[in-house]
Amino acid sequence: MHDVIIIGSGPAGLTAAIYTTRANLKTLVVAGGKWGGQLMLTTLVENYPGFSEGIQGPDLMMAMRKQAQRHGAEVVEEDFTEGDFTKKPFVVKTATKSFEGKSVIIATGADTKWLGVPGEKERIGRGVSSCAPCDAPFFRNKKLIVVGGGDSAMEEALVLTRFAEKVTIIHRRDSLRASQILQQRAKNNPKITFLFNTTVEEIQGLEKVTGVKLKNNQTGKITDMPIDGVFVAIGHAPNSRIFQGLEIDEQGYIAVHNHTKTNIEGVFVAGDVHDAKYRQAITAAGFGCAAALEAERWLDSQYDTKN
Ligand code: NAP
Repeated sequence: MHDVIIIGSGPAGLTAAIYTTRANLKTLVVAGGKWGGQLMLTTLVENYPGFSEGIQGPDLMMAMRKQAQRHGAEVVEEDFTEGDFTKKPFVVKTATKSFEGKSVIIATGADTKWLGVPGEKERIGRGVSSCAPCDAPFFRNKKLIVVGGGDSAMEEALVLTRFAEKVTIIHRRDSLRASQILQQRAKNNPKITFLFNTTVEEIQGLEKVTGVKLKNNQTGKITDMPIDGVFVAIGHAPNSRIFQGLEIDEQGYIAVHNHTKTNIEGVFVAGDVHDAKYRQAITAAGFGCAAALEAERWLDSQYDTKN
């Protein structure tokens, strides 16, 4: 029997594990077959405090994992398959194992939606990004595109203009989905231009991005556009739907009641699976800490966890 089962092993899950193990709670991390979350797919992380020269995303995650394990966290590198949160103890299953836990912290994160076009996947972190606050400084005086027509696309473009020479927002329809206020901010920015009714068909370049192939959806005309970077902002998919009985909001994120509590007592949530707003490694880690503290307090109120 574990005191806490943490599902997910990104910054939220591993930070939670560091806190629960240091609170002397028997902790299991169901880390997933591909453990570590989105930072495992990035290169240099320059906005995680404590690393003055930046740190490679996978190195940061390895350090967090070692820290959690040093304090006694067990890590299972298998995907969560199902959980029964209807009765206590809670049951968490992977393909080959079944675990019981007095409490659960869900930290399964969110997946960036990518375009799925040729040339994209292999250039993520090499000119293709989904995080302007993380990567904008690498594109000083460059020409960039942002793909998407929602609030995220407007925000990403606005952040990029602090460094880039020019930002083109490419949207597949003729009208934006973004809120009026963000649309206006983007339209008023002299560095931002728009290309409507346009989709990206291919991302080009050898070592780094040098251009994109675009298609006008109305005329079918294909053009090549030389650019230095592609920011994809077409939404995120929180990994929440695998949990039966948990309240999910209209955007698919796990609903939070009173800090990190879910609608099920004893089940807590941390990180991008509930946070549509900040989506940063450091905020996910902060939520992981908060969820661990809430779980510890709740366990203290329910069980004698000191023995
Ligand atoms: P979103 O509102 O779902 O917008 C996604 C955009 O990407 C849409 O314009 C969509 O086009 C486009 N798109 C989707 N799939 C595509 C594809 N395969 N190829 C090309 N374009 C594609 O997502 P979001 O902008 O990330 O926002 C998510 C939520 O967070 C929203 O509720 C938003 O208001 C909120 N948010 C708020 C703020 C803020 O208030 N500051 C900032 C960021 C996000 P269509 O329009 O044609 O569907």
